[in-house]
Amino acid sequence: MPSSSSPDPEGPPATKPRAGSKALIREINEALVLDVVRAQRPVARANIATTTGLSPATVTGITSKLLRAGLLIETDVVRGTGGRPARLLDLGSDAVVAAGVRLSDSDAFVLLVNLRGEVVASHQEPLASTDPDDVGKAVARAVRAAKAGRASATLIGVGIAVSGVVDHAGGAVRHSGSLGWDDVPFQAQLTSLLEAPVAIDSYVNCVASGLLLFDGRLAGRDLLVFSVGTSLGASVVVQGRIHRGFNGAAGGFAHSRVGAGAERPCHCGALDCLETWSSHWGIQRELERRGRPGDGLAERDDDLVTEAADRLGIAMANASKMFGPEHVVVAFTQEMNMPALTTHVEKVFRRQYEHDNTPAPDLELTATDPSTHARGAAYTVLAQMFTTATHHAHVTSGRNAFTAG
Ligand SMILES: [Zn+2]
Repeated sequence: MPSSSSPDPEGPPATKPRAGSKALIREINEALVLDVVRAQRPVARANIATTTGLSPATVTGITSKLLRAGLLIETDVVRGTGGRPARLLDLGSDAVVAAGVRLSDSDAFVLLVNLRGEVVASHQEPLASTDPDDVGKAVARAVRAAKAGRASATLIGVGIAVSGVVDHAGGAVRHSGSLGWDDVPFQAQLTSLLEAPVAIDSYVNCVASGLLLFDGRLAGRDLLVFSVGTSLGASVVVQGRIHRGFNGAAGGFAHSRVGAGAERPCHCGALDCLETWSSHWGIQRELERRGRPGDGLAERDDDLVTEAADRLGIAMANASKMFGPEHVVVAFTQEMNMPALTTHVEKVFRRQYEHDNTPAPDLELTATDPSTHARGAAYTVLAQMFTTATHHAHVTSGRNAFTAG
């Protein structure tokens, strides 16, 4: 098996004979082959057969079809396999693109990526307002503008990264403080504006998707990914796949209560959420409350930063002890990437493991920018090409948006 989040460890499902089951198996096998090329590129056909367990004849049939469709290309590299020279296969770079859109309260930033995950176009579109209608229209304009230069490529889908609590499967934004949204069925709304499947996810899950698809180091692992920015977020990754929880509620640590009677009101309606202490929004609110709204955060190193970092480091370690990941990523957005905060968060997190008899997970601190979220949103869509529909039934019209051959 390739070191990857897919294919299914159980292999293709044992489908009962029914109409369309041959087409389904063919589709699964195509995804399996593409996934092996993704993980091992460039790769010989013989290795694809060995890795997937498909017969060499089946692999040749599938790869021929994928080559005709431009999803695979033959490289110029020639290596001997079993005494005979063989041309290696790589992912095609021109046939399909996926769009990823990062929504903020001021603009829709879109990146187009090709099948290899490489960024091939971008566009930024200002928002007239954060009203879902206005945002939807801006997203559609942004995607069309980015796609204009890639007319020959098929758009396989549009991923949307939203700051907040997102029900990925239900296609709805449950709560977004930055957009001021509650229960917005944004996927259905966008699907009516775009001629491609749409998927919505939270910023932090998009950061996780961005890490997972083309980074063999993390494939199949248990991870926790935290994002620290205007809002806070957490992504729970189980064996290389994002765990979403009931109604997409997994990873909702931003709104776990950490205060002890200080009663800071949160934009979600509750009091003393971690968000009110440790997000950029929360620190800014506290500065306003103290009558210093103009104070910047960049050079700050005082009780506000210490309290933010203390609560964040402890909450992250608590979540980590519950789940037991082998790797923890903390992604700071530009506005929160302050040395006083990042070093203190790291120290507090590590301190929580000093007296623990389980080893601490690897801790990785990283910086994100809008392109991180947009690229991750595009990867959410792109992942469908390498995965059977049984795992990713969340894009509105499935992964068959592109019909090979
Ligand atoms: Zn809250």
